[in-house]
Amino acid sequence: MRPVIAALPDTLISQIAAGEVVERPASVVKEVLENAIDAGAQAITIRLEEGGCQRISIQDDGFGIAHQQLHLAVLRHATSKIKSLSDLESVASLGFRGEALASIASVSRLSITTRTAEDDHAWQIQVNGGETVGDVSPSSGSVGTTIDVQDLYFNTPARRKFLKSATTELGHCLDVVRRIALSRPDIGFAIWHNGKVIERWSAGNIEQRVDAILGQEFHESRIALESTSGVLSLRGFISKPTASRARADQQYSFVNGRFIRDKVIQHAIRSAYQDVLHGDRQPMVVLSLEIDPQLVDVNVHPAKTEVRFREGGAVHQFVYKAIQNALSTGGGERIHESTE
Ligand code: ADP
Ligand code: MG
Repeated sequence: MRPVIAALPDTLISQIAAGEVVERPASVVKEVLENAIDAGAQAITIRLEEGGCQRISIQDDGFGIAHQQLHLAVLRHATSKIKSLSDLESVASLGFRGEALASIASVSRLSITTRTAEDDHAWQIQVNGGETVGDVSPSSGSVGTTIDVQDLYFNTPARRKFLKSATTELGHCLDVVRRIALSRPDIGFAIWHNGKVIERWSAGNIEQRVDAILGQEFHESRIALESTSGVLSLRGFISKPTASRARADQQYSFVNGRFIRDKVIQHAIRSAYQDVLHGDRQPMVVLSLEIDPQLVDVNVHPAKTEVRFREGGAVHQFVYKAIQNALSTGGGERIHESTE
């Protein structure tokens, strides 16, 4: 018999998309933090239970969501951030796909509590497994938004089985918060786990934030780097060759404020250190590249941690030279010994 073609229901589409957007609790943390930042938050509190597997609650003091629009926030492909394809080409916000909250809501019990400066109280919406429960209702809370995600994958047991231990998931969540916190030292962050504060980074400058997150070892060995060439500019800190590590676990790179993993940049870093580091030793770096948004595509993958440069070769050459230059002028003599 010939099979029948039928359009899938919206919730199912979101659940399928959730496979890409919501890989694990850390992906929820990333999406919700990015929304808080796009909303102009100055202080963000992250509360996790059991590594985020049981609960992820993120409170911001951003501009909130108008209660008349609250139901749209959890609708697939609904966004306040772009309106046209040309907006996408020069997008400045971290989000723009309008699918994160819908995806998260389709595989968890999600509530949004939000209040704008014009409201005299907060409003709340509850969505369980993609189904809205009741109406948008009055609630209490200060200006800003709290997104509360409970029981991730409660309705997709096969995916729930892929969750690792709370310790492992917590580690991934913390990695995400560290990356985002490094990109925005002007925002204060507090992280709670199972009812206890585990990290608190107050708003400050980039040096303070780098010290808070990368610690003493990097503080003692870091060289400041600043370089501009045409549409490219690179700023940040790199470690002297004397303070290398066995793993590349302290390398943070950002493109236009977004944490990314990019082969071009990673290769440029490795090449620049090639002559000064032993074998597999890895430098520590916090590098922030600014580039004309027209020359980079961030819409490569739903998680947006990959980018595509229009002129990868030029970016490689620029990053490589900037690091090499900083190492030779600021790094003192070139030493082949390394310690950790
Ligand atoms: P995107 O960020 O790609 O637009 P999301 O699904 O992450 O899509 O969010 C949908 C919409 O909900 C956003 O465009 C924004 O208008 C609103 N929103 C989400 N989180 C917040 C927040 N913390 N503060 C204010 N508005 C928010
Ligand atoms: Mg978003």
